[in-house]
Amino acid sequence: MGVTINWPLTHIFHMIVEVLGNMQDGGVPHLGCSCDVCESARQDANESKYIESILLRENNDEDSARYLVNATPDIRQQVQYEYIDGVFIPHEGLGHITGLQFFGQEGPDTSDMSVFTSNTVEEYMMKNDPYRFLIDRDNIQVQAFNHGDEEDIRGGAIEAVHFHHPHLNHDTTAYMIHGDDRKLFYLADITDFNQKVEEKVKEADIAILDGTFWSEDEIGRFEEVPHPPIRRSIDQFSDFETDIYFTHLNHTNPVVRQDSDERKELRTKGFSVLDGGESFKI
Ligand SMILES: [Zn+2]
Ligand SMILES: [Zn+2]
Repeated sequence: MGVTINWPLTHIFHMIVEVLGNMQDGGVPHLGCSCDVCESARQDANESKYIESILLRENNDEDSARYLVNATPDIRQQVQYEYIDGVFIPHEGLGHITGLQFFGQEGPDTSDMSVFTSNTVEEYMMKNDPYRFLIDRDNIQVQAFNHGDEEDIRGGAIEAVHFHHPHLNHDTTAYMIHGDDRKLFYLADITDFNQKVEEKVKEADIAILDGTFWSEDEIGRFEEVPHPPIRRSIDQFSDFETDIYFTHLNHTNPVVRQDSDERKELRTKGFSVLDGGESFKI
């Protein structure tokens, strides 16, 4: 017997969150590294892993609006669509803003493409080429997107949540993405998970969080590039009901390997690694 599902009309407009990448800004292969993860990515394009980014789109038709979160240096491989309606930039780090350059005169030469970012990142862009150049040529149009601001996008809405990120020049913006059914919280690059992060994770059905390192001793200069290590985060969030995924992985992180004990441990404890190519319907 067939099952009839009576969707309320509004449910036609679910939002799809596509995962375009899950690596830390330095990417894989990582310059100067000959570990097996990096070497296999050099030898086989299928083993390449892209820098952390997501794409939001409405699921109902081919011409739906499409918004990108992060403009990474891998953007040419990541974005498979003919156009993008807007890009959300959380901060000015290597993996998060430099991809904007590809929209300029050497590329599709966009006109007035919306770039949603905080006032501090906008000031940075106004002072620095090539971003200033993109603004002057009207390739991009910067839209203020500060804490609490919400942008309606077809299929849902995206809300800015500000966080302190002391190892960068500027703070960062996280995103609470409101779908028709579920909320997805996206905070991919941060120094640590404070109480405010915990509150936002609790509020969401799905949280995609910074999992750069598995542990503090994974690289020799952790203090210079601090991120909340997954080993600590799985204790911190152990009793949360939210589905938690880790992204922004450094090439050294053992969970990058599909068959590692650490990835198995994560799964056993109810967490997941965010993999490129997966998508969420919210
Ligand atoms: Zn980053
Ligand atoms: Zn490596």
